[in-house]
Amino acid sequence: HMAPEAGLRRVIEAICACLLQAEDELTEMDQRVGDGDLGISMARAAHGMLDEIDGWPAETEPAAVLRAMSATIRRVVGGTSGPLYAILLMRAAASLDQAKSETRPAQRWADAFTAAVAGVMELGGARPGDRTMIDALTPAAQALQSGLTEGRDLPAAIDSAVAAAATGSAATSSMTPRRGRSSYIGERALGHVDPGAHAVALWLAALRDALKV
Ligand code: ADP
Ligand code: MG
Ligand code: MG
Repeated sequence: HMAPEAGLRRVIEAICACLLQAEDELTEMDQRVGDGDLGISMARAAHGMLDEIDGWPAETEPAAVLRAMSATIRRVVGGTSGPLYAILLMRAAASLDQAKSETRPAQRWADAFTAAVAGVMELGGARPGDRTMIDALTPAAQALQSGLTEGRDLPAAIDSAVAAAATGSAATSSMTPRRGRSSYIGERALGHVDPGAHAVALWLAALRDALKV
């Protein structure tokens, strides 16, 4: 039996608080380049997870927690990001479950994040450069992996992942949308950051900050 990951609950609560705080900003961003529902979708995800967190036994394993979050998001979040976040969390859980016993915890989380991003790409079909959340997720996963490979500890590797997500998110403002509703407005999206990529940069920074407390 695996002990509960210290601080996992605190991290989830911090991510939820961040998404609720960002609701209006994400709404405005998605109004500019999409259909304006991303703020509401992320807030629904946050409320759903916060409602559920109290029902978890203290010893719930991280993978089980991620699966529960995935089920909640699948149930309460519509739009495109609902199914994409649901598979992200599901694949992360599967990766944690399949981790080899000799793999150290930091590497397990990095591998789970990498598998999660691959799941989003598989389901949504977006590639880097298509101007989606993938443009924040992919560089973040790569930075996390290379940080650990270069011998940094998990907090330092997460720092570089946060920076990579922010850079990747900012770069979407010069990308022509090829996926999702933004693709309908085409070049008119130029000059605006993709809301889904921005959301990733925000929640990843919240995760990092919660780990530092
Ligand atoms: P919808 O466009 O269905 O209203 P949301 O508002 O929930 O979707 O989410 C929009 C965000 O989802 C976009 O800003 C983009 O980052 C991301 N997105 C859209 N389509 C895809 C896709 N095929 N793969 C990955 N991410 C995508
Ligand atoms: Mg939308
Ligand atoms: Mg929508």
